[in-house]
Amino acid sequence: MSLSVRSKPYIIPEYSLTGDLLAYLTCGLQYRYQNKGTLPPAMPIQLWFGNFIHGVMEEAYLRWKEDDDWKDFPWDWKTQIRDIELSIDKMMRARGMQPPANLFCPFHEETEELGLCPDHDHPHKLAASIRAEASINTWGPHLFPLIDDSEVKLKGIRDMPNYEKDQSRSNYYGIKGIIDVLSSVKIDEASDKNLIIKYLHNDPAFQYKLEKLDKPEYEIIVDYKGMKRPQLDSPSWNHHNWQVLTYSWLRSMQPESRPVLIGILFYLNELSLFKEDLKELKKDVETGKTDIKPFADDLKNILNWNPHHKPPKISDSLKSLRSIRIIPVEYDNLETSLKEFDYVVADIEKSILMEVNGQDIQSSWSPNPDERTCDACDFTTFCKDNKSSKRFPSVP
Ligand SMILES: [Zn+2]
Repeated sequence: MSLSVRSKPYIIPEYSLTGDLLAYLTCGLQYRYQNKGTLPPAMPIQLWFGNFIHGVMEEAYLRWKEDDDWKDFPWDWKTQIRDIELSIDKMMRARGMQPPANLFCPFHEETEELGLCPDHDHPHKLAASIRAEASINTWGPHLFPLIDDSEVKLKGIRDMPNYEKDQSRSNYYGIKGIIDVLSSVKIDEASDKNLIIKYLHNDPAFQYKLEKLDKPEYEIIVDYKGMKRPQLDSPSWNHHNWQVLTYSWLRSMQPESRPVLIGILFYLNELSLFKEDLKELKKDVETGKTDIKPFADDLKNILNWNPHHKPPKISDSLKSLRSIRIIPVEYDNLETSLKEFDYVVADIEKSILMEVNGQDIQSSWSPNPDERTCDACDFTTFCKDNKSSKRFPSVP
């Protein structure tokens, strides 16, 4: 009897657009340590907060939709929002994501434990909670009534870039993501006082696309970002544009979809800016590298602010305007976005193969961080490319 040689299992590597590709672009080495490490799970603060705020918005939407007691805003942090935060934290812990202690108080009530909290009188409204509260109470009343379908899973498949038989892991790769979908039906029903509708009416690209539709049915896709609005034409600015185009392409392949006219990204950190964010905002304003410019008092307060003093007052209207980004879906640019992500996958696959073939981690994976990425990274102590200016992790 002869035994047949079992062939290698056929695998298609699957990449999450935000969790893998955008994380890799933030820093390749950090991505490697956090994802494929044998180290205990250590999640960069930025990624923890991105997951957390996304989860909080989804859970808040479900409570708003399913329960009449949750229809009125603003929601109270201690009696309403705190419960949502704890359920998301529990879910994330189950997936190995521990909350950074300086960002989130994990305790329900007064305990002997202190963590990095100021005293034993838990729960504390730390940075992640301040942001969760602002996100729900600013956008919940306007966004939730427009959502037609939440947490829609997107999946697609692409040819593996630079495929080489017997070398590459697979001839295809999978790409996936999760979005909320707004529909024209819900948009038509919405009140005139809805801030998102107001922004859409003022957006020439959206109006133009609306007029060109054959049938008055369309969709808008939505994603949440636990970060500040990126500088105009910065790498993140462009990556997010590609993300929206790629998601629209994946959505368009689902049979129940309607044409996707635009994507909306919410940069939720704009609603509560801390010192490091304010320093960046001030720099963006001074250098003219932001598309949503402050004016009048906001402009004066930001430009005159001395970072050694207390934070300047910023109007709610500027905060909400800076936290929403409308991205028109131009299918002409689609191929470019997909190609950009192909290059990223090619880079990741190349690094994996280098490591599999015996190279050490730090020479297989290229770091690509900026200072804030390093400041918030758990791996700075042994990273050769460490640009960190601080000894302690900062708020993302
Ligand atoms: Zn606490």
